[in-house]
Amino acid sequence: MATLDDLPLRSDLVGKKPYGAPQDPVPVSLNVNENTHPIPEEVAIDIVSSLAKAVVGANRYPDRDFVELRRSLAGYLGHGLTEKNLWAANGSNEVLQQVMQAFGGPGRSVLSFVSTYSMYPLLADGTGTEWIPVQRDERYELSAETAVAAVREHQPSITILCSPNNPTGTPVSLDVIRELYDATDGILVVDEAYAEFAAYGFESALSLLPGRERLLVSRTMSKAFAFAGVRLGYLAADPAVVDALTLVRLPYHLSALTQAAGIAALRHADRMLATVDDIRAERNRIAERLTELGYDVYRSESNFVLFGGVTDPNATFEALRAQGILIRDVGIPGHLRVSAGTHEETGVFLDAIAKLPR
Ligand SMILES: *Cc1c(COP(=O)(O)O)cnc(C)c1O
Repeated sequence: MATLDDLPLRSDLVGKKPYGAPQDPVPVSLNVNENTHPIPEEVAIDIVSSLAKAVVGANRYPDRDFVELRRSLAGYLGHGLTEKNLWAANGSNEVLQQVMQAFGGPGRSVLSFVSTYSMYPLLADGTGTEWIPVQRDERYELSAETAVAAVREHQPSITILCSPNNPTGTPVSLDVIRELYDATDGILVVDEAYAEFAAYGFESALSLLPGRERLLVSRTMSKAFAFAGVRLGYLAADPAVVDALTLVRLPYHLSALTQAAGIAALRHADRMLATVDDIRAERNRIAERLTELGYDVYRSESNFVLFGGVTDPNATFEALRAQGILIRDVGIPGHLRVSAGTHEETGVFLDAIAKLPR
């Protein structure tokens, strides 16, 4: 059998590691920030009947521009958006990849504020875009001063701001986003994968879109919407951005089944999001209990909690894994991240970690 070294791989990919969060079939899986609640049965039945109709027409290519799905997404987001402002792909990872294909690439750069989502540098690598990581402020917050100074210094083609940020949970204020936009000539992406979990006072960057044609707000159905397995992410932006993305997308990239499932699920948005309040409560419970146990908990507006003060993260991770509980070692020394699960799952995790040495 050959190895990678035997292949004429692109030299800039030599030595790179693929995305690799463990996918163990454990009873309590709290490592990739999914909504761990199942889809309500009556919603599932309606989705299946839509899928059945789509299968019958599957001899034909799907609507290449998925207009009905874009209209449904626009209706869900509100803010006066229409289908012309919406774009979607197989997960927001693919949306971000298309953004880098259109606005990044060789000779161009993408900047973000670390620690942040581990896929950004991988997407940069895959598209030949230079990756510029800039450190956040104390406790992974991000001030306008830090953000503006970074883009003035590096002049990136693309800046990605994750809010609330993965893996730290910290949101970024609209003031920071406004100042950052004014300080860069490049594209500014605000990745709002966790927006639905934020506090009621959270202000989405969607409200900043009018008059800002270089601002892109990405969202996903993988987290709050409990639809990770379907692979559907999307963004809202000026229609000119959508025109740019059609230059790099593959024809018919969103299957007829994905489109049908997405449209059907969005008809039931309220039911799909009904567990969000419970998940927030579980997140707060995790934060309180871990604080009691002496861990250093970061403020989170998402469905996960980052905590420090872990003497040996790998030992804690493995001890939990041995008990059928999967959480995440995000590579920050002394820290681990855990997603808020159902009340029962969260309880199993909290009981188990309480019995481990800190
Ligand atoms: C999970 C996540 C996504 C979503 O990825 P999908 O491809 O839509 O499943 C995007 N951004 C961040 C920061 C995430 O944590």
